[in-house]
Amino acid sequence: MDKPLKQIVILGGGSAGWLTAGVLASEHNSAREDGVQITLVESPSVSTVGVGEGTWPTMRNTLRKIGISENTFIRSCDASFKQGSQFVGWVDGKDDDKYYHPFTIPTGLGDANIVQYWRSHQRNMSFANAFTPQAHVCDSGLAPKQKATPEYAVVVNYGYHLDAGKFAQLLERHCTKNLGVKHLKAHVTDVRVCKQSGFLESILTDGGEVEGDFFIDCSGFASLLLGQHYKIPFIDKQSCLFNDSALAARLEYPYPDSDIATHTISTAKSNGWVWDIGLPSRRGIGYVYSSDYTTDEDAEKVLREYIGNDKVESSIRKISFKPGHREKFWHKNCVAVGMAAGFLEPLEASALALIELSASMISKELPARLDIMDLAAKRFNKRFHYRWEKIIDFLKLHYVLSKRDDSQYWIDNRDVSSISDTLLDMLKIWKYQVPSHNDFTDVEELFSSSSYQYILYGMDFNTEGRLTSSRDMEPQLAEKYFLQNQTLTDKYLKGLPKNRDLINYIFSNGMPSTV
Ligand SMILES: Cc1cc2nc3c(=O)[nH]c(=O)nc-3n(C[C@H](O)[C@H](O)[C@H](O)COP(=O)(O)OP(=O)(O)OC[C@H]3O[C@@H](n4cnc5c(N)ncnc54)[C@H](O)[C@@H]3O)c2cc1C
Repeated sequence: MDKPLKQIVILGGGSAGWLTAGVLASEHNSAREDGVQITLVESPSVSTVGVGEGTWPTMRNTLRKIGISENTFIRSCDASFKQGSQFVGWVDGKDDDKYYHPFTIPTGLGDANIVQYWRSHQRNMSFANAFTPQAHVCDSGLAPKQKATPEYAVVVNYGYHLDAGKFAQLLERHCTKNLGVKHLKAHVTDVRVCKQSGFLESILTDGGEVEGDFFIDCSGFASLLLGQHYKIPFIDKQSCLFNDSALAARLEYPYPDSDIATHTISTAKSNGWVWDIGLPSRRGIGYVYSSDYTTDEDAEKVLREYIGNDKVESSIRKISFKPGHREKFWHKNCVAVGMAAGFLEPLEASALALIELSASMISKELPARLDIMDLAAKRFNKRFHYRWEKIIDFLKLHYVLSKRDDSQYWIDNRDVSSISDTLLDMLKIWKYQVPSHNDFTDVEELFSSSSYQYILYGMDFNTEGRLTSSRDMEPQLAEKYFLQNQTLTDKYLKGLPKNRDLINYIFSNGMPSTV
């Protein structure tokens, strides 16, 4: 057992497998003989999930670290910029029911009580518009940067919309050509295990046996190593997050120069919600819903109605999933990343971000020797258990705050029995105080207090504040930030190009290069 870790085997060639391979290979010099050797095994007969089109701003840093130029990424992956999400119809379903969760944090957050100021002085404007220019930038279809802004640099914070299939292909090319990752297309049929320790020694495939010291299970919903071999229990979360099905479609733009939305549009429907994502060449649209509350036929009607019945270009694809995660993610010398670890509805596009965080922690804490594997596993499991629970609470928040009562789905979503104690406690606290960094203690918190503020105050949550006076209530500083934001907004609305124009420019010329 006490031997150095030299050989890593990654099972699965979807976004999880290739992103993890890229992060590990670039940090551990896999292209050199004295680096960690990585083999990625991928079945030629099991396709990748192929959806997953929204990323977080974290992806910029991940791509930069792996060594992929942003120009190459945007051109190869049919990618465009994403500046956050717009939620339509989530509060009461009326015509003007829209709010943003932008990626830029509110101006003055943590320094002044901007929420109290907004509540008492600026209620004719949305919270996001009062304290960030980004919602205005999105409404105007503008890009988050200028043509002269270098790769990966920002004017306002952004992630991406991308074609998941093309993304995996780009990562594959880069990992195998530039980072020294070996790629084997073979179907895994079994594993060989050390009888004494229970550690995996190899995976058996129809193309031969692949040995390793450490195994990363990126086999998607199959969860071949962690789930099927080690039988780590699955924690089902459907009693909290009801959705378990998705219908996905593609739609061409009416004109080659149609605007590309620079945010994901998530529209609430009677038994779920529709995502609408703009790529340079097409839109990706899908309906996420609960099979306990509606049928596939009715769900398809909802999707076709959203799109306009005659306009669906490709066939509609159904994907079923179980919301939840494994009881632990790292067991013995095997860790699961991506959907092999678990899956939650893509309401805040958190899956790829979780993959990036998993790959980053595995890479930083990669045990030098096998005898400290258990310690690394313990640390990883604790951290990621916390993260999964936090994501679940954050997603549930969107449903709990809704006032919709047009179906049993929305009414049941507010039933206390479907809400975790931690979320119920936080909601009690936020009745009197605004979400702050005190509520979120992890250094790499997935959703920070600003995200919670955007959702709570976008959905009309009432934080009453204290009855007694405190410095917090003095409005002058908050007003300064409010005015600053209005000036900045005017400047950006005048100075930023249309999203489509910047994307066209990147295809023809490219941003100033940094990689
Ligand atoms: C409807 C929907 C929408 C989504 N939207 C978003 C989003 O907007 N943003 C976001 O971040 N995420 C989103 N996701 C999640 C995202 O798509 C996934 O987390 C991501 O693609 C990672 O998938 P994966 O690599 O874990 O699994 P997969 O893509 O399923 O890859 C599994 C791999 O395992 C291999 N494999 C399986 N069995 C074997 C075997 N026996 N032998 C060898 N290889 C095998 C397969 O060949 C494949 O290469 C969405 C998911 C769904 C379902």
